[in-house]
Amino acid sequence: MPKHIFITGGVVSSLGKGIASASIGRLMEAKGLKVALQKLDPYLNVDPGTMNPYQHGEVYVTEDGAETDLDLGHYERFTSSVLSRVNNVTTGQVYGTVISKERKGEYLGATVQVVPHITDEIKTRIREVSKGKRYDIVISEVGGTVGDIESLPFLEAVRQFRQEVGRENSIFIHLTLVPFIRAAGELKTKPTQHSVGRLREIGIQPDILLCRTEKRLSKDLKAKIGLFCNLEAEAVIEARDVSSIYEVPLIFKEQGLDRVISRLLGLEYRVGDLNEWRRDVVEKILHPKHKVKIAVVGKYIQLQDAYKSIYEALIHGGIASDTAVEIKKVSAEKLDRGKPDKHLHEVDGVLVPGGFGTRGIEGKIKAIQYARENKIPYLGLCLGMQCAVIEFARNVAGLKGANSTEFNKKTAHPVISLLEEQESVKDLGGTMRLGALPCHLKKETLAYEAYQADLVMERHRHRYEFNNKYRETFSRLGLRLSGLSPGSKLVEIVELEDHPWFVASQFHPEFKSKPDQPHPLFREFVRHALDRRENNLPGGAASAENSPNRVSAENKKEPTEAPAASEVT
Ligand code: GLN
Repeated sequence: MPKHIFITGGVVSSLGKGIASASIGRLMEAKGLKVALQKLDPYLNVDPGTMNPYQHGEVYVTEDGAETDLDLGHYERFTSSVLSRVNNVTTGQVYGTVISKERKGEYLGATVQVVPHITDEIKTRIREVSKGKRYDIVISEVGGTVGDIESLPFLEAVRQFRQEVGRENSIFIHLTLVPFIRAAGELKTKPTQHSVGRLREIGIQPDILLCRTEKRLSKDLKAKIGLFCNLEAEAVIEARDVSSIYEVPLIFKEQGLDRVISRLLGLEYRVGDLNEWRRDVVEKILHPKHKVKIAVVGKYIQLQDAYKSIYEALIHGGIASDTAVEIKKVSAEKLDRGKPDKHLHEVDGVLVPGGFGTRGIEGKIKAIQYARENKIPYLGLCLGMQCAVIEFARNVAGLKGANSTEFNKKTAHPVISLLEEQESVKDLGGTMRLGALPCHLKKETLAYEAYQADLVMERHRHRYEFNNKYRETFSRLGLRLSGLSPGSKLVEIVELEDHPWFVASQFHPEFKSKPDQPHPLFREFVRHALDRRENNLPGGAASAENSPNRVSAENKKEPTEAPAASEVT
């Protein structure tokens, strides 16, 4: 039976519970233990697939095609745990199962209630993660903040779970905030005391506290928090702000978090080290030799989380060539209203991410035209591939008004059209072409050069595709179809013949990139951006100020606009 770690959050949201959970996963894996991670999300949606990025941030897609919370992306990037749909449980799924069991008569005679029926279903799903597999540890992160109405059934379920498996087999870790009050010049522990008090009211006493803080916690302060919250001082861990999220496992290790966890769970203590992680990931990020500036042209650039995996994959790509990637977030709509040159003249690479709906499309197409004509390295992802095909059709093949039928159903040149299998689809949730699918690569292409493989598996999330009617004309004009699905049915990757590096994929490579295994397409993209910067752009972007992995947004103000219904996915 595996040991269980439950991670809760208190005081405020956005403290980085997902990164903390992933970091603990990494810490325990470093000891040779097999770790599984799971996210329990209290919202009523069955999955985040139908939620807007303003609500939810990125939707992370697993190998088996589940549309999940972006924290699963952190789990996969930090650990070797392979995730599937069982690793993200939502209230929607739990209630869905219980209600359908009730209809079948499985609870015949009983009143169906939150306790025990909903809580039992949650416990079943916690067990499901390790069913038939040999894990040493299962880490379950409870979404939301303690005190939320929605997360109560989950907290009650994990409380019961511990009663059932015993203290030596399960622990609670609570992530809290210790704010620094500038006027007083002091760190304040009261919010933490309240948050722990709230947990205790529902029967959970945390075993370890992770204290998010911008200043260092003194020994005395740790002892004070320990005293008021019923913990030994060594179980009070400082989670201070760091410049790279990949430092978090290191600061946990420094403070002996792995030792405390091992002791509480009765695991034999194995030293385990994070030397490679420090040397090959963290040091490279903190002390890069070079720098490039990449424009990400999207419509959700004001949000930190909408393109999370892409931003991370760019950083990973940079690690491979000792390069800090500064990300310039460019609003596709603003670019459409002005001249692309204004936004893109000083960048070394252009990336257009995935997306849905008409807003911002023309700006993305202009950005791609600019990258194509100025020979700037370009990486297009999903919608970014579809827009590249539209741009090529309009401006190289001369097909005026060419478009995707997603944006103009009546276009004379539907170069991107609905997948056949999608034509009869009515429900929007979980019905796209989803998950890992094979893609055959053609030799002597940029894609092959990057992957060095004939066959790759990549994750998808789309309804539209390259219209096969245009394959021949476009190939003749210099659009190389370098990746195809089995039987040459669907176009998976396109690239330009007459360009240093222009690659666009129908799939989402960003989901498979890790800091210690940068994705080949991101690695090559950044390498070519660097090449351009160092060889072709004297005095241009090369002279820009040097600050590693800086993310600059054109428009930092909070979004006020409500997204249109058609763009919800
Ligand atoms: N909207 C496009 C489609 O459905 C692209 C999807 C995406 O970028 N993930 O095919």
